[in-house]
Amino acid sequence: MPSADIAIIGAGPGGLAASLLLAHAGARVTVYERHARVGGRSAAIEADGFRFDTGPTFFLYPRILEEIFASVGRRLRDEVEMIQLDPQYHIHFEQGGEIRATPDRERMRAEIRRMAPADAERFDLYMADNRRKLEVFEPILQMPFHGPSALFDRRMLQALPHLRPTRTVDTDLFRFFQDPRVRLAFTFQSKYLGMSPFQCPSLFTILSFLEHEYGVWHPKGGCSAVMEAMARIAREMGVRFELGTPVRELMFTGRRATGVVTDQGRQHVDAVVINADFANAMIHLVPETLRARWTNRRLENCKYSCSTFMLYLGIEGSYPELEHHTIWLARDYARNIEEIQNGKTLFENPSFYVQNACRTDPGLAPEGCSTLYVLVPVAHETPHIDWSVLAPRYREIALGQLPKIGITDVEKRIRVERMLTPMSWRTDLSIHKGATFNLAHSLDQMLHRRPRNRFEDLDGVYLVGGGTHPGSGLPVIFEGARVTTRLINEDLGLSSPAAEAAE
Ligand SMILES: Cc1cc2nc3c(=O)[nH]c(=O)nc-3n(C[C@H](O)[C@H](O)[C@H](O)COP(=O)(O)OP(=O)(O)OC[C@H]3O[C@@H](n4cnc5c(N)ncnc54)[C@H](O)[C@@H]3O)c2cc1C
Repeated sequence: MPSADIAIIGAGPGGLAASLLLAHAGARVTVYERHARVGGRSAAIEADGFRFDTGPTFFLYPRILEEIFASVGRRLRDEVEMIQLDPQYHIHFEQGGEIRATPDRERMRAEIRRMAPADAERFDLYMADNRRKLEVFEPILQMPFHGPSALFDRRMLQALPHLRPTRTVDTDLFRFFQDPRVRLAFTFQSKYLGMSPFQCPSLFTILSFLEHEYGVWHPKGGCSAVMEAMARIAREMGVRFELGTPVRELMFTGRRATGVVTDQGRQHVDAVVINADFANAMIHLVPETLRARWTNRRLENCKYSCSTFMLYLGIEGSYPELEHHTIWLARDYARNIEEIQNGKTLFENPSFYVQNACRTDPGLAPEGCSTLYVLVPVAHETPHIDWSVLAPRYREIALGQLPKIGITDVEKRIRVERMLTPMSWRTDLSIHKGATFNLAHSLDQMLHRRPRNRFEDLDGVYLVGGGTHPGSGLPVIFEGARVTTRLINEDLGLSSPAAEAAE
């Protein structure tokens, strides 16, 4: 069987999934990770017996990762216990009203009915419309986009009528839900991509559909436990992990990447897979003279997702009334979003999200304690906002919001605290502009216009992770890893049952 040496830069979800698939195809894989632990934005933060997820807390559509595990002879649920949440999340609207989203259709209709009786009757229509949309779009998420000609692929042509390019998720859902609060309950998910529901392409109404159709899951130990399980299995399959080892540059002969350089030395390889944040990796690892399309100027002009201000609080006691996921949406949600988009000022009354993971998973904190994960969407880094100055003030704002969902007296109870700002996402996690959800998912930055899985500017370089097709968010990142590894297998003559299964 042919083999090959492959270096993967970054042990984020995309890099880990690729390592499994490539090792299974017979490649000798080395994963270089800058940090001492795996997971990237999906790693765990641990301190004094408390454990938090850094980023993802909503594990959606487990099917793709289940298939990847199955293709390497494992069962996801044997490796990590998966707990389905009900309620999936609790939304509070500042202008009044609340929804406890549930996978139980009848109860979900009742939840909507309490706020908007007419909208409740259209819930099933919304589900049917999006079921069809996912059906026609799933093949597109599974195929590579080598150029504009891919737009004429049969699968793409079938999906086009459902693309509705002039609509946003908000205007698309206006067809079903007239009450703006109900619409928000089905569109705030565009925030998972770091985008505004008033700008996010209508295709992404499938995000809330995925939750209602396939559930919202909590992996025991957090999403980071899934990353750790992938790394454990990859090691068992022979993948070498070089943790605490940043790649400093790529080696090239002409346009062809021939290896990677670290502080420990050089490794010659047949292919390089970049999982590191796309824009950051281009700027720091690849000489600009080799980049025809993704020049620094172009990277500067790209649109990036929003960022997030984060507090991870290990607290004494718990808040038993608080659901696992709680979302509080400001009355002036549209203006909040606009301020995030323009990046000039910080909203004083921001929408926010809190995870009370110990409600489901008490092992994440010492006896008698619990964890709170607080996320406030904010602008990615701009010259107008200096986080080194503003961070303490914004911490006050974030903590000041918490009583709105019943979290009172929290400051006295904090035993452990970590904070991340857009600046720390950039400096600590090497994310360009601290844009936590990567390049924006606007139509002009999707499909063939997103950096391609077989990277178009170089030979022997491939991309996985949120910066390539299909995009950011765990299920699509895992799907993207399948797309990319299939291309590598073709190019290097490796054979992979995993790749064949995805055809
Ligand atoms: C706050 C937040 C909340 C999120 N919530 C959700 C959610 O609920 N559900 C969901 O599905 N998705 C969510 N996401 C989005 C997405 O799933 C995660 O961001 C995901 O971790 C991105 O994966 P990735 O494969 O792009 O790699 P990343 O996680 O970005 O990992 C890249 C890795 O590359 C490493 N690296 C960088 N440069 C180098 C170098 N030179 N050498 C070696 N290593 C390097 C980094 O250290 C990092 O470990 C969230 C993201 C964030 C930030």
